[in-house]
Amino acid sequence: MNNEIQVTRSSMPSIDEYMEEIRDLWESHWLTNMGVKHKQLEANLLSYFDTSNITLFTNGHLALECTIAALNLTGEIITTPFTFASTTHAIVRNGLEPVFCDINPEDYTIDVNKLEALITEKTSAIIPVHVYGNVCNVSGIERIAKKYNLKVIYDAAHAFGVKVGNTSIANFGDVSMFSFHATKVFNTIEGGAVTYKDEKLQKVLYDIKNFGITGPESVEYVGGNAKMNEFQAAMGICNLRHVDMEIKRRKAVVERYNERLCKINGIKICKNQEGVKKNYAYFPVVFDGYRLNRDEIVEKLKGYNIHARKYFYPLTNSFECYNGKFDDNKTPIAKYIAERVLTLPLYADLSLDDVDRICDIIAD
Ligand SMILES: *Cc1c(COP(=O)(O)O)cnc(C)c1O
Repeated sequence: MNNEIQVTRSSMPSIDEYMEEIRDLWESHWLTNMGVKHKQLEANLLSYFDTSNITLFTNGHLALECTIAALNLTGEIITTPFTFASTTHAIVRNGLEPVFCDINPEDYTIDVNKLEALITEKTSAIIPVHVYGNVCNVSGIERIAKKYNLKVIYDAAHAFGVKVGNTSIANFGDVSMFSFHATKVFNTIEGGAVTYKDEKLQKVLYDIKNFGITGPESVEYVGGNAKMNEFQAAMGICNLRHVDMEIKRRKAVVERYNERLCKINGIKICKNQEGVKKNYAYFPVVFDGYRLNRDEIVEKLKGYNIHARKYFYPLTNSFECYNGKFDDNKTPIAKYIAERVLTLPLYADLSLDDVDRICDIIAD
């Protein structure tokens, strides 16, 4: 028996359902470049997100890179270092300067009280992250963005299916980026999308993800290639049918973890955010004053073939590739959390018995 437990496990439809969905591709021989499946997935996601504009990409990272280019941003962009490499790299790869704001110690999203002090005449945008599916202080961010005339692009890679009241997470800021990577709550194998308010962005994003080609004999932008193909879109069409059920099953796993771990001294778990419908994307635990430190817990779990992940560690502002250009002491809360946080295994198929086993090992 293979009782190895990974930190996550990709959701998949039945093989029959996927085969049925891709069958017509053998008739059309149309495999990519915004075909029938691509159009269908766009329409289905617009309806799921209850929003008016969406553009699909081959992955979430390129969705973010292309969006920064499409908005013609300049100078400095305020973001947080407590995120996946992608968020910071997308800024730097566009030739712009990331300015790191600290996170708040409750939900690990950008600390709105520290944001205004970082704005200079060069600031053009804010890229906050709905980390772990926790919702940023969207009203506070909107107020500051309006006051200083800044664009807001949410990195919503973790937030698929999250709602604030009745409003889908896709409807905040100027743009929201989603990742449909295999490890995310909803996947298209690899994939991503942006949702946005200004419908004029649609054409620019389309052109940028398709080499800047605007007509049979005209190329107006120095674009790249970031198109979602038909097999990815077909996977998305299938997975979207089941995503609400998947989220429900994740919820059961998270509730069991909460039940087992919430009363243990030195183990800190995120509180529910008021009025937020969660997606149970991750289960981050902060070991602060516990008998064992985070790294000891990782090793202990590994001894039982259970793989938790130091997510996020290290902070993006301490990556080697940035050659000491940034100072992670300027984001002390992010640094403190990154040294103590661990995301425990979580996916729809994880059995409650396995959750108990993981909790026993941690608490033993
Ligand atoms: C996954 C992820 C991305 C990048 O998405 P890909 O689809 O893997 O390119 C960006 N930001 C965050 C926070 C992520 O978790």
